[in-house]
Amino acid sequence: MSKVPELFGSLSFNETVMRDRLPKDVFKALKQTMEEGTPLAPGVANVVASVMKDWAIERGATHFTHWFQPMTGVTAEKHDSFLSPQGDGSVIMEFSGKELTKGEPDASSFPSGGLRATFEARGYTAWDPTSYAFIKDHTLCIPTAFCSYTGEILDKKTPLLRSMDAISREACRVLKLFGKDVKRVTTTVGAEQEYFLIRKEDYAKRLDLILSGRTLFGAHSPKGQEMEDHYFGSIRPRVKAFMEELDEELWKLGIPAKTEHNEVAPCQHEMAPVFSTTNIATDHNQLAMELMKEVAERHGFVCLLNEKPFEGINGSGKHNNWSISTDTGENLLDPGKTPISNAQFLLFLTAVIKAVDEYQDLLRISVASAGNDHRLGANEAPPAIVSMYVGDDLEDVIECIISGKDWNKERKTAVAIGASVLPPIPLDQSDRNRTSPFAFTGNKFEFRMPGSSFNIACTNIMLNTAVAEALSQFADELETATNLEEAMTTLIRRELEAHRRIIFNGNGYSKEWEEEAARRGLQNLRSTPEALAHYTDEKNVRLFTKHGVYTVEEMRSREEIGLEEYSKTLHIEAETMLRMIGRQILPACVAFSGKTAQSVSAKAALGVDAPAEKALVSKVAEKTGELFAAAETLEEKEKAVPEAALDSACYYRQEVLPVMEQARAVADELEVMVGKENWPFPVYEDILFYV
Ligand code: ADP
Ligand code: MG
Repeated sequence: MSKVPELFGSLSFNETVMRDRLPKDVFKALKQTMEEGTPLAPGVANVVASVMKDWAIERGATHFTHWFQPMTGVTAEKHDSFLSPQGDGSVIMEFSGKELTKGEPDASSFPSGGLRATFEARGYTAWDPTSYAFIKDHTLCIPTAFCSYTGEILDKKTPLLRSMDAISREACRVLKLFGKDVKRVTTTVGAEQEYFLIRKEDYAKRLDLILSGRTLFGAHSPKGQEMEDHYFGSIRPRVKAFMEELDEELWKLGIPAKTEHNEVAPCQHEMAPVFSTTNIATDHNQLAMELMKEVAERHGFVCLLNEKPFEGINGSGKHNNWSISTDTGENLLDPGKTPISNAQFLLFLTAVIKAVDEYQDLLRISVASAGNDHRLGANEAPPAIVSMYVGDDLEDVIECIISGKDWNKERKTAVAIGASVLPPIPLDQSDRNRTSPFAFTGNKFEFRMPGSSFNIACTNIMLNTAVAEALSQFADELETATNLEEAMTTLIRRELEAHRRIIFNGNGYSKEWEEEAARRGLQNLRSTPEALAHYTDEKNVRLFTKHGVYTVEEMRSREEIGLEEYSKTLHIEAETMLRMIGRQILPACVAFSGKTAQSVSAKAALGVDAPAEKALVSKVAEKTGELFAAAETLEEKEKAVPEAALDSACYYRQEVLPVMEQARAVADELEVMVGKENWPFPVYEDILFYV
């Protein structure tokens, strides 16, 4: 692969292509739109569209689509061809500025959470010129936002862009206090993506994987991940071939995939790109997930993005590495080398600490799903409690600021904001606390709670807006201060003291932490319904409406969609279990015990006692009875699901899920009793340890 530079971005209508191909004035106008959000004149849009079409056709495209991110979490597209019949039997290839900037997909079957009455099914998509168009499957894809005709937003991209505006606005106000005239501040994100690769033939034999993306049955493999021989281990040649092709496909689209390695669990891997602006990183992560599935298929694999495909081994997450930087390239979460840059860093750090503490519920909500519930707190992923890790050095600094105690013991100096230089914050990443949900890693924060299948937009909407609010309060206070340094010192000390409870540097997986967190008054929202119930708490509505990110209706619709999705997921899983029990597991167990019983009688006829077989028959019969009973209970429970979204989700959590777990436990016991050749689908050892 010697031609990576040529390959990189070859299917992306990026700035280089724009500069090369667009007339100068058109390029300038478009660039202004990209940077400052000024509307694009129709004449300009027409030129851009035509140039884009020619570029795409040269690269084999025949169709175009508005590519958007409805509230389902996956991406949506509706393809139209460039074809335009001429009435004389011939066609030309056409693409207008109007087609580029606005689309009208029939939106009636996307979830709207009650926002759009079915008689007003129409929605429209609008081009997001800040994210480059690209070619996928011979189709020119145009990244767009998706709204209803009455103006409510129906996607994940629009609120993300709004939250980016909010944090930019407030951060610029704060920077002004430091004498910096910055036009735009952006949040940057690098999303590490974990996934499992399993063989297609195993997948095809398991209804649970096909319908729910995770195994609903399966006794733990005698060997799991305890030997820790898979993490960063050498990569199987088949998997290596997959990773190489994935990298190539990602690079073509201009996605800077940087690292590919094995993860902790057998068959688990990770891909991490170089970070970029949040909305681009979001688009890229959505595309990466799509491509992983596609490329896996070509290599005889299936890529599992579910948060917990297998019990007993790690699930998959997505680490959201997040920072804030100015349009002049300054990373605001990088502690500087001078007192003044330290002061600025401390102020931004304090804003993040305050935001995470005050809106811990929103961060938890942003990662809530049926799949992720199995992962959070499962001794491998952060618990459902949100806390922050800042490292020992920084914690020392914070303690000294709060207490006014000497920070440098030899020199007997207190931390004077704006006057002293912080100790160098180690950029070395080796001793980071892996058990923390929200860890400071030298010049960025790493939020580790998002699930592997998530669209990261939601997490970043919450994070950006919460930090925007903290910065806004800081700016309000400091803008009117007569002595800025003093005011800043007072503010930082006060806020750190008020929010220090969110900082925890110890082992986040331990039982003691759960108790300690409760003493500190931190929330522990264990399940999705418990978390989502807080979405529209008054303080959250105030936050989002103040910053123009969501209206209260838009928030209610998102809460409802989340709850419905939770109930639907559990419904599908419960029904799948019932099918598998009824059609596969019970018949297998009945047949096995029947066969064994016959063998007992045959042996008895010869005067041979067969105590082992007899015992086995009784045991299997007994467990089969238990499984049958559990299935009946599950069926009964499924008939009594309440109507309202929150009631239904709570019911699934409290009434249905425990019965599913009970049924699974019995089935898993049976699996190791009835003999491998009698078991109706591949077992964990087969799936996880292929060659
Ligand atoms: P690890 O697995 O040790 O957490 P990786 O190198 O796999 O580390 O991932 C770190 C991620 O953080 C990468 O995607 C990287 O681009 C991203 N990153 C680095 N600096 C920033 C930053 N300033 N803002 C956002 N993301 C960043
Ligand atoms: Mg990481």
